[in-house]
Amino acid sequence: MIPHHTLSGQPTEQMPDWQTELANAVTDITELATLLDLDPATLDPSAAAQAQFPLRVPHAFIARMRKGDPNDPLLLQVLPTDREMLPTPGYSNDPLEEADANPIPGLIHKYQGRVLLVVSPACAIHCRYCFRRHFAYADNTPGRERWQQALAYIAADTSIREVIYSGGDPLAANDQKLLWLTEQIAAIPHIKRLRVHTRLPVVIPARINKACLHWLTATRLQAVVVLHINHGNEIDSALAQAVAAIRAHGIIVFNQSVLLRDINDCPNILQSLNEGLFDIGVIPYYLHRLDKVAGAADFDISDTEMHAIYRQLLTLDSGYLTPKLVVEIPGHGSKTPLTPAD
Ligand SMILES: *Cc1c(COP(=O)(O)O)cnc(C)c1O
Ligand code: SF4
Repeated sequence: MIPHHTLSGQPTEQMPDWQTELANAVTDITELATLLDLDPATLDPSAAAQAQFPLRVPHAFIARMRKGDPNDPLLLQVLPTDREMLPTPGYSNDPLEEADANPIPGLIHKYQGRVLLVVSPACAIHCRYCFRRHFAYADNTPGRERWQQALAYIAADTSIREVIYSGGDPLAANDQKLLWLTEQIAAIPHIKRLRVHTRLPVVIPARINKACLHWLTATRLQAVVVLHINHGNEIDSALAQAVAAIRAHGIIVFNQSVLLRDINDCPNILQSLNEGLFDIGVIPYYLHRLDKVAGAADFDISDTEMHAIYRQLLTLDSGYLTPKLVVEIPGHGSKTPLTPAD
């Protein structure tokens, strides 16, 4: 439990520079093992999985892992394994068929009223279950001139009310670029809201600095931040301070999680995550069923188990603390809520 009275709502001055933390992220499995007091031989150092999607995890996130525990729920989210490389029927490189909803480089328009911009191809952390691990980022990371095309698309479609910064992780982009882009979007009269989908403040809380809070609040756009946290152990006091700083500017902060085998596939773990989120001022929004992306089959659980877990979760806590269980089905006009049959 974070004592709220110690949260000033302002980033503290002694926070390390987030870009240094980003650059110092651990990419070597032996180094990771050493930091966690684990025998590197007990980890499965899959060269093939690493070649496809390298290990990447910042020190601030490693600090929240339990030492000496090869099954730590934070470690399991980032550890490459040989099993990822086994082809699994039903799993593909583009499970959401986003290639079809990609009219302009860097822009995905699948749902009415909102468009998603791939603001940065990079992530601070590489989550093994990520549905974007095979995404054609090279074709989807426009420079400033090419952003004009995406901005013209948004300006031409008055049905769009919300722009979502996504990635990769949009907060891996620098604040100067984000300020420029946000100002361009704010100049389009029919856009009301700016939503930022990010995991970066979770894994490097120092990312929420003055420059970031500036562009989030500098325009007339109403900002919304959606974090990505899967387990209560990801919540620490530095994250609590970052969230408090965002909320001090009147910005609502939501969270989305992915239901992951051996990480959070348990009603009590999910309940304590949701309590921990609300303790620091974050509202649980979505609990996603895993997208069937090649390499992520290890994290999957059966529909029967999923419904049993969610049915139990519904009985454990307040309705507003319980995220909506959803799945993304290609061709559907929204995320699809999954309601367990009684
Ligand atoms: C999830 C998603 C959104 C936002 O959906 P909400 O239900 O409004 O959170 C928008 N565009 C794409 C492509 C998405 O995947
Ligand atoms: S897009 Fe999100 S889930 Fe995927 S690797 Fe990046 S931070 Fe992790």
